Amino acid sequence: MAKEATFYENVERNFNKAAAYTRLPEGLLEQIKLCNSVYKMKFPVKTGGNDVQVIEAYRVQHSHHRMPTKGGIRYSIHVNQDEVMALAALMTYKCAIVDVPFGGAKGGIKISPRNTSPAILEKITRRYTAELIKKNFIGPGLDVPAPDYGTGEREMAWILDTYLTLRAHEVEGYGCVTGKPVSLNGIRGRTEATGRGVVYGLNEAVSYKEDMDALGLTTGLAGKRVVVQGLGNVGFHAANIITEYGAKVIAVAELEGAIYCEDGLDVKKLLKYRKSNGSIIGFPGSKEIKGENAGIEVECDILIPAALENQITIKNADRIKAKIIAEAANGPITPDAEEVLLKKGIMIIPDIYINAGGVTVSYFEWLKNLSHVRFGRMNKRFEEFSQNNMIDVMEKATNKSISKRERSNVVRGASEIDLVNSGLEDTMIEAYQSIREAKKKKNIPDLRTAAFYVSIVKIADAYGSMGIFP
Ligand code: NAD
Repeated sequence: MAKEATFYENVERNFNKAAAYTRLPEGLLEQIKLCNSVYKMKFPVKTGGNDVQVIEAYRVQHSHHRMPTKGGIRYSIHVNQDEVMALAALMTYKCAIVDVPFGGAKGGIKISPRNTSPAILEKITRRYTAELIKKNFIGPGLDVPAPDYGTGEREMAWILDTYLTLRAHEVEGYGCVTGKPVSLNGIRGRTEATGRGVVYGLNEAVSYKEDMDALGLTTGLAGKRVVVQGLGNVGFHAANIITEYGAKVIAVAELEGAIYCEDGLDVKKLLKYRKSNGSIIGFPGSKEIKGENAGIEVECDILIPAALENQITIKNADRIKAKIIAEAANGPITPDAEEVLLKKGIMIIPDIYINAGGVTVSYFEWLKNLSHVRFGRMNKRFEEFSQNNMIDVMEKATNKSISKRERSNVVRGASEIDLVNSGLEDTMIEAYQSIREAKKKKNIPDLRTAAFYVSIVKIADAYGSMGIFP
């Protein structure tokens, strides 16, 4: 039997498919495709008494065509070099698509965060950061980590604190990591940014009548039946925010199993329920879906895999009954499975576009850290003042006045969260349009290949501007 392709090989396969639509020189394509630097490390951590655990960890910088490099850090017992390389490569293409001026990177530590105490996790995180500093693999102008699977604000705070301890006089030090708590110079809206970006992207994708007609769907998110796999950072926020657009989350799949409710699940209550019961099974008003990974096979309009890679493979692709799949996770569909899904007429909105909301808002956070000022701080009151003046003049001229409520809606100056969300929405809309246009113009059959195409052309342009390639 043929050996199954690895995650990294799958990314390369997707790259090669898109590269065939360009006329770029082989050498340049090779340079864009390959990982520039791979740092594998092992270090000891005392886990109690005289016990020492040797930790395996990675940081991969896929592309230096723009600096710094950027990408999350994953904590999982399944972390391996191939996975980190694949995720780093995806980061490069993702950043290019959403015009975030970074090269791609990714980190990973081979541990189970669920089975490791916070004290040991902190030790491991701090030592990992020190290892990165030793090798110049972290810094606001070098390489900027962020959260990924198994990590969040807490880990980013430990990384920041370690960095600032060892690099005390760097004025831009706070920009060494993103996804930090707001109280440590993080940015409002980063935690939910990936999930929110998924919804903004979906909202744009379902707005084209001809595309929805082809799927037998109406335009707009309202009334769409959604299934989500993984109720973590990305999955929870995507599920929660999509309901604000009138969609219904009819099924959720987690590690312990899946549940279903045709009227729609209240995902906020579901998350609370899981936290206190350790499982989503038994959530009031829901039915359990039996069978391994059966949750993602539920018939629906939109499936959002938001857990891990390789969830839809050649083994279960023919059982997927969604009309649209939005890849909130990285690499949830293997290329062989994708062929089956595309033949079934399913629209696949690829990871390198749809989950780029996280890195987009990380970029805003990095800018905030480098400029040392909160977005909106300098102009909010001034905007309110001048808008108030404008209304005064108009009221005088028309001899009509507006209500207090109307006035406060009109004059409201933009706060940090307003600016972050509006910048994110604009980014997701523009990027989708560029992918859709490339798909049409180059007659590319699917959105993933079109997204890779857009990305490769932009990176090649950057190399061209450096005079490295003609
Ligand atoms: P997370 O750790 O917060 O959540 C992942 C969730 O998936 C967990 O609740 C876990 O129990 C669940 N899960 C794991 N295996 C599962 C399975 N087989 N079936 C159902 N549920 C399962 O991680 P996250 O940050 O939400 O990341 C999820 C995915 O999104 C990853 O692929 C990650 O690379 C990608 N991503 C994350 C970000 C980000 O900003 N955090 C940005 C872009 C992409």
